[in-house]
Amino acid sequence: MSKIIWKQQVCSLLFLAMRKLDKNRPIKGRNLEELRELMQDYGEPAFRGEQLFRWLYEKRATAFDEITTLSKGLREKMSKKHSLERGKVITQTGDKQDDTVKFLIELKDGKRIESVLIPTKDRVTICVSSQVGCAVDCDFCATGKMGFHRHLDAGEIFEQYRILQDYSDRTITNIVFMGMGEPFNNYDEVIRAAALFNDDMGPNIGRQRITISTSGILPRIQQYTNEKQPYQLAISLNATRDKIRSELIPINERWPIGDLLKAAKRYTKLTKDRITFEYVLIEGYSDSTEDARRLKNMFKDINCKLNVIPFNEIDGPYQRPPDWKVEAFLSELHPASFPVTVRWSEGHDINAACGQLNTEKEPKKRSKKTS
Ligand code: SF4
Repeated sequence: MSKIIWKQQVCSLLFLAMRKLDKNRPIKGRNLEELRELMQDYGEPAFRGEQLFRWLYEKRATAFDEITTLSKGLREKMSKKHSLERGKVITQTGDKQDDTVKFLIELKDGKRIESVLIPTKDRVTICVSSQVGCAVDCDFCATGKMGFHRHLDAGEIFEQYRILQDYSDRTITNIVFMGMGEPFNNYDEVIRAAALFNDDMGPNIGRQRITISTSGILPRIQQYTNEKQPYQLAISLNATRDKIRSELIPINERWPIGDLLKAAKRYTKLTKDRITFEYVLIEGYSDSTEDARRLKNMFKDINCKLNVIPFNEIDGPYQRPPDWKVEAFLSELHPASFPVTVRWSEGHDINAACGQLNTEKEPKKRSKKTS
């Protein structure tokens, strides 16, 4: 087991153990039941927990002073012990080509993450991070280059929504867990955050508009299926052969394509939901017409859709295929038994597109592996 995966697993266990025992979970991130208990601990009736929930997640309060339904004395007492602000914006960068804005956010411990606001004509999507860095170490990804630093808790994930919604004139309609980190390596906090986004006393974002994307952590896909989690599930496939996928996404050695396809099929059968496959087109790796034919064959009896994403280049050896190759790939897919969309990722100009997020000034360089 690589040192970094080992570090992440120890971290996960400690993190979970602390969260379970922890009555000190920061207030932002607590669910309704926990907020009710908290208010009772302060000698208040339980219904105050409901009020606090709305102040935190619907009205997006960042200081106890704003919470006028609580008495002044109680607000003072609580603000001595707790802080409602979980992160602050360091920089925000807008893309010249579109309205995408990337936010660099500093957390209380000084760690930094990135989140992206992507307004389009009919929706406003935000892409949130679930970890600082990432242990999966996909070879084409800027976040992977940072290595794994720590998990975010649900409150820190929610805080990204709070900051981006405070900035945006339009209401955020969609949330994708596709920022920094592998969401399924931080499963409990990600599911907790998704429930907060979905809550009708909070942002009330519909379950169909919340998407959790994984690089293929098989045991968590199975858990997600067994629990019949209501949010949308996406798997980043990115290659059609195990040899290539293992080069791009090292965990493929452990959980290869065939196993992922079986798990995807099981997910769609049990939940009756469609699954999304993300497929990054990388020149010479995943962009051939044979790849397109293999995808058609792989997905023919899975209730899925396919998002094709021409690669967003970072400092490294991988390249986006030329447009004619993208077109050839797409026409080979046509007609397919599943819907196909092409995502020319927004925010390319500001390194805010898929796989480009990295908060380190001088990330480790990466050299091309041999295929
Ligand atoms: S692509 Fe996703 S899972 Fe892979 S290293 Fe980047 S953030 Fe992690």
